[in-house]
Amino acid sequence: MINPARNRAEPTAALVRIYKRSEHNISRSQISDNALKVLYKLQKEGFSAYLVGGCVRDLLLGREPKDFDVVTNADPEQIRKVFRNCRLIGRRFRLAHVHFGREVIEVATFRGASEIQNDKQVLNNEGRLLRDNVYGTIEEDVWRRDFTVNALYYNIKDFSVVDYVSGMADHQAATLRLIGDPETRFREDPVRMLRAVRFAVKLGFRLHPDCEAAMHKVADLLSSIPSARLYDETLKLLLSGYGLQTFEMLRHYGLFQILFPATERSLSVEDDGFPRLLLIKALDNSDNRIAEGRTVTAYFLFAAFLWEPVKTRAQEMMARGMVEFMAYQEAANEIISLQIKSTALPRHITMAMREVWSLQPKFNIRVGSKPSRLLAHPRFRAGYDFLLLRAETGGADLEVAQWWEKYQVADENEQRKMTRPPRKAPGNKVGRKRSYRGKSKDSTTEKEV
Ligand code: ATP
Ligand code: MG
Repeated sequence: MINPARNRAEPTAALVRIYKRSEHNISRSQISDNALKVLYKLQKEGFSAYLVGGCVRDLLLGREPKDFDVVTNADPEQIRKVFRNCRLIGRRFRLAHVHFGREVIEVATFRGASEIQNDKQVLNNEGRLLRDNVYGTIEEDVWRRDFTVNALYYNIKDFSVVDYVSGMADHQAATLRLIGDPETRFREDPVRMLRAVRFAVKLGFRLHPDCEAAMHKVADLLSSIPSARLYDETLKLLLSGYGLQTFEMLRHYGLFQILFPATERSLSVEDDGFPRLLLIKALDNSDNRIAEGRTVTAYFLFAAFLWEPVKTRAQEMMARGMVEFMAYQEAANEIISLQIKSTALPRHITMAMREVWSLQPKFNIRVGSKPSRLLAHPRFRAGYDFLLLRAETGGADLEVAQWWEKYQVADENEQRKMTRPPRKAPGNKVGRKRSYRGKSKDSTTEKEV
């Protein structure tokens, strides 16, 4: 067993720096009423109570926190007694969730310091923390946190910010720095590497060089993390609103290949740069949608990420004589099975991805009743958006995408005209119908799925 304390500076009260209310910009008006209620109530019951983590970090930056996390010296049972609207959750570390309608305030008990031979803390051979459920004091809790800017405590008693790790200075320098020895901290929990990327991008902070160096060294350890947790983290990374920058940074540190091995291979044997273009466009579109307050769906991004590997694999199978439809189904099965080993995609996501992929060849049929049936398909919109993505990045016929753009807004009469089969009469004018026939014959898109 490895002792996690060995490489870490031990807490001493002498290190603490308290920023009085007049020395920082966090005002109670920015804190959710429910979080304030929880803090005051704990205080009234004689416990200490602080806001900690991402909410303090975001408040200092003048951003609206996603949620408010509270820490206290009350243990979970004591917390439960204080709040009627409270549920205890978590096996690895017991936490309280205090419910106020839709808002949940998470209340955790301070975590204890890592003690030598503490049987409640277990590391595996790579130094990863497997169990971690010791309660402690604030001076101990702080060293368990990942980055210094995530380890600032807002004390409800006097509205001060308590800083044991020079988090405030790092905040001002816009630097993400791990608490303690970076390599040890990444070994304890390799997911911290993904968190480093997520926060660096989201906050516009730079990674401290020591943190970067450690990341280059131990990036591979990410593969030891259970795929369900990697899926959750991947969602946060991709749907952060800064997906494109995140993608670039994950690749830079060699983390992307662990999350998306098949995609990474397709990027390293790029065919005229198209796989990269498709990914970039997909991420860019979704970042823009998030910026406009619109929704984005995870399955669409996963479908875009895995499209190239599916296509390549299907083409290999077709070259060995498999029929197109089967080849694409087989390829989708293979690539999805491989992907879920890295990130455990839930079934509703893989089903939706398959649907988006399987709709693609159907867009090439523009005569008869099929187009109107396709339009009524529940995934038409996603399928069409995917077609656009392919068309814009050179993977599908732009003219087909334009036809569908027109078709979906046309009135019934016009739609009928658009889908009328081309006449064979020799005198027939060269028009859309003729060009459609020409295109469909040697269109690459039709052969793609
Ligand atoms: P977000 O804005 O994404 O919620 P956050 O910093 O609040 O960012 P959480 O996952 O909500 O992130 O975690 C809350 C706090 O718990 C963090 O700020 C950090 O102090 C601590 N923490 C979370 N995950 C880890 C981890 N893997 N290792 C160490 N500390 C962690
Ligand atoms: Mg948080």
